[in-house]
Amino acid sequence: MSAKADVIIAGAGMAGATLALSLSRAGLTPVLVDPVVFDDQLAPTFDGRASAIAYAAYRQWRALGLAEALDPHAQRIEQILVTDSTAPGAAAGAQLPFFLRFDSAEIADRSDGEPLGYLLENRRTRAALAAAVKAAGIEVVAPARVAGAVFGPRSADVSLADGRVLSAPLVVGAEGRGSVIRSEAGIGVIGWDYRHTGVVATVRLERPHEGVAHEYFLPSGPFAILPLTDNRASLVWTESPARAAALKTARPEMFQAHLERRFGEFLGAVAVEGPIFTYPLSLQLAERLTAPRVALLGDAAHGVHPIAGQGLNLGLKGAAALAQVLVDAMRQGEDIGSAAVLERYAAWRRFDTVMLSAGMDAFVRLFSNDNPLLRVARGAGMAVVNRIGPARRFFMHEAGGAVGDLPRLLRGEAL
Ligand SMILES: Cc1cc2nc3c(=O)[nH]c(=O)nc-3n(C[C@H](O)[C@H](O)[C@H](O)COP(=O)(O)OP(=O)(O)OC[C@H]3O[C@@H](n4cnc5c(N)ncnc54)[C@H](O)[C@@H]3O)c2cc1C
Repeated sequence: MSAKADVIIAGAGMAGATLALSLSRAGLTPVLVDPVVFDDQLAPTFDGRASAIAYAAYRQWRALGLAEALDPHAQRIEQILVTDSTAPGAAAGAQLPFFLRFDSAEIADRSDGEPLGYLLENRRTRAALAAAVKAAGIEVVAPARVAGAVFGPRSADVSLADGRVLSAPLVVGAEGRGSVIRSEAGIGVIGWDYRHTGVVATVRLERPHEGVAHEYFLPSGPFAILPLTDNRASLVWTESPARAAALKTARPEMFQAHLERRFGEFLGAVAVEGPIFTYPLSLQLAERLTAPRVALLGDAAHGVHPIAGQGLNLGLKGAAALAQVLVDAMRQGEDIGSAAVLERYAAWRRFDTVMLSAGMDAFVRLFSNDNPLLRVARGAGMAVVNRIGPARRFFMHEAGGAVGDLPRLLRGEAL
């Protein structure tokens, strides 16, 4: 390590890199460690997902100077249409009794004309973050895997698999669900496997999507059509692990036939672009967000089901809160890795993290279920919410991430 680091961030994924950039912009010295170098993270085969980013989380990237790189690739989500259905496409005519329609125009007075969120391909976000990290001169130790850590009274020593040891007053575990820092700090996890796999593909559409995101609750599980720039869409649908594995390896014409059955015809012909990706789905919640000289961030702290596109958004909210706590502590001359400082981060994020993870879990159980009684009950619930304007606006503000005690970066302000 060439510089004296203030914070070692294990994991240069989207959450870790965002935190590194925020800290560096405000005068702290972070060091990122990752087994995968940035160039490999940008390969078309590395991450085929697109993420729905809440407008408040997107403001953070703008405040960090990423607008020029991200804006051309960010698709505004103007409407979200949720349908409890047995046939994809049916919602286009909204002839089913059980649907929900969210429209950004309804909250324009309080969101400064922002959409409900933005859809961004992860590879675009990774490329923008990698370029900004490089331009900021942040040290990236890669390829290098964190293998262990010991936590002393004044600093943490992080050992890498190649034998090197890095030291700093604070280490952030942002290495995703299999966080080594989390287990070295003795923080347990609770959670379960949903026994479902998310199948992800990008398609080109014949008819314009007009910025509408569709979520269908089909008998086999949720199926999302998420609008992308250039009239493409990212599809996420859940299947049993066996069916998902078969889809991933299916011949293109078989996959296309399956897709067309799912998709319906309401957006015209659909053509698959690029590889098919699969992701096993589970819930994983760390028992604590901090330990002596340690803070957890992103999926290392909370891995949730992608049903409502909240996982990365939670990680970005955490990054904004942690950056603010650390930078304010540095300005006050405090030890940024002390228990008192870390408790401010934990207190700020604990409630939202647990409530959102539990809420997503309940949502998955309710909507991934084909029980006829449950179908009737949730359909009635959707119809009620759809008729009540304040209820719809509540959900939209929640999804936009602009509620509660917002860190400065999520308000679009500098640190
Ligand atoms: C199908 C699907 C769709 C999704 N859609 C959305 C969406 O629309 N909106 C949304 O908000 N979220 C979504 N999510 C969730 C989102 O993708 C994750 O929450 C997000 O990628 C987590 O980012 P992270 O940086 O915390 O972790 P990761 O992306 O897991 O990054 C962890 C990093 O740590 C590195 N690492 C691993 N081990 C070590 C080690 N030992 N030492 C050092 N580094 C290490 C890895 O190489 C990696 O770079 C979706 C998830 C899935 C599966």
